[in-house]
Amino acid sequence: MNGTMQGQARLRVVIAGGGTAGWMTAAALGGTLGELIDVTLVESDAIGTIGVGESTIPPIILFNRLLGIDEAEFMRATQATFKLGIKFENWKGVGDSYFHSFGITGKDHWSAGFQHFWLQGQSVGDEHSYDDYCLELKAALAGKFAHLPDDRMNYAYQLDSGRYAAFLRQRAEAAGVTRVEGRIASVELDGQSGDIAALRLDGDRRIAGDLFVDCTGFRALLIGGALHVGFDDWTHWLPCDSAIAVQTASVRPPVPYTRAIAHDAGWQWRIPLQHRQGNGIVYCSRYLDKASALERLLGSVEGQVLTEPNVIGYTTGVRRQQWHRNCVAVGLSGGFMEPLESTSIHLIQRAVLRLIRMLPAGRISERDVAEFNDQQMADMEHIREFLILHYKATERRDSAFWRHCASMDIPPSLRHRIELFRETGRVFRRNDELFAENSWVQVMMGQGIMPRAWHPLAARLQPQELGKFLASLRETVDRSVANLPTHQAYIARYCAAGSAAAA
Ligand code: FAD
Repeated sequence: MNGTMQGQARLRVVIAGGGTAGWMTAAALGGTLGELIDVTLVESDAIGTIGVGESTIPPIILFNRLLGIDEAEFMRATQATFKLGIKFENWKGVGDSYFHSFGITGKDHWSAGFQHFWLQGQSVGDEHSYDDYCLELKAALAGKFAHLPDDRMNYAYQLDSGRYAAFLRQRAEAAGVTRVEGRIASVELDGQSGDIAALRLDGDRRIAGDLFVDCTGFRALLIGGALHVGFDDWTHWLPCDSAIAVQTASVRPPVPYTRAIAHDAGWQWRIPLQHRQGNGIVYCSRYLDKASALERLLGSVEGQVLTEPNVIGYTTGVRRQQWHRNCVAVGLSGGFMEPLESTSIHLIQRAVLRLIRMLPAGRISERDVAEFNDQQMADMEHIREFLILHYKATERRDSAFWRHCASMDIPPSLRHRIELFRETGRVFRRNDELFAENSWVQVMMGQGIMPRAWHPLAARLQPQELGKFLASLRETVDRSVANLPTHQAYIARYCAAGSAAAA
């Protein structure tokens, strides 16, 4: 199979779709491999993009650095703000809140994470919250931010997705990527191999290629429509299937975090940018109808509504193969879980960087395809488990939705993680999993899972010695936070987009 590429001097890569996925792929392929390959991107202004996807996680910094992007320029162009984590409200119970920060909490010992020492402290009467030991968390809630030496502040961005795609487009085109405007009417398969030979566009245009990247979003025109790769439905674990998004005018300076506020049939997001705020409601249509969801969203937003409500239906799950024949799914065509932990753009980044590492040398190797699929699927399953945790580990029983979540079956590996933590306080990060120990600890404790035991090493510390250790960590955090400028002041100095761009 895939003999079409043998002997080709320059690989012809065709990207179908120009949303965040399409332009991230184009900018990365063009920017890093432009001398070796020809890249063409086809998109249709008439169809447009999904228009959401504005909250990110820290690895995006690496992606931007690989592309040689200047951070301040990127933030100005995308009206971005800094993000230090996510504040989860009403998840454990109505009125409760916790914070999943991007930072490190306290100080780990090589044999035991900081939570073991904190738990020991609690057992001997220390009442300080786990949150008091995390710089990013305390800075976020104080509305402060600054870059610190040695990358000591871990952060990501909240950005305008339309502007991000436009920013990447500029870079991609400068790197030699050809953009073709037009609607893909059909996908032409090679009669012999069954691979994709070309995209047929309205107006009888034909774009031939060797390798195709499906970035057509939920339509999945190539991987699903033409190559019939099936879809694994994960609705039984991640039951939300609908969202409505609106943008509003800002009513206060942007906070350096995203809010995820649970309601009785899902949750709502608030993502503050420099020039406006992104808002949305995510819900399960079995428990809430569209009209009520819209009413709830519009009834809760602050500031003037700037856009028509964008109503989006989806099925949580993944494409069974992310790479099949000469087609790689990147973005929503490859699947979608939940916007809750802002992981979709990250999965795009992982797929694109993986594709660059596995660029075919002539004929596509089935080994590459299998390896790519294994790696991408491992990422997706890991993220899936972390997401399910938020729904499953709740004390809420106040609605049919939450009762369903609390009683649903979960994957055995997640059950193991939860029980291991509950019994021993331990969390292990396997391979290069996205979420590290501190993420699991913050979310598990935030959702009400408290360990019954902890490492005996922590218990060996004398209360006075432990108290001194904990106090010194808190003081370091407090001192650092006190010295930080406000998030707003830092943006104004570092990357203010200016009134022209904000218009
Ligand atoms: P799209 O944006 O839908 O782009 C598809 C492209 O294909 C468009 O250019 C379209 O014109 C083109 N196209 C389709 N059909 C044709 C055709 N026939 N001919 C020509 N062109 C065609 N991710 C995060 O990381 N953080 C978040 O906070 C976040 N929030 C989200 C909230 C919701 C409710 C949803 C649904 C998703 C969210 N995501 C988030 C995911 C994120 O929006 C997507 O991963 C990201 O925008 C990539 O989308 P895409 O490029 O795959 O698809």
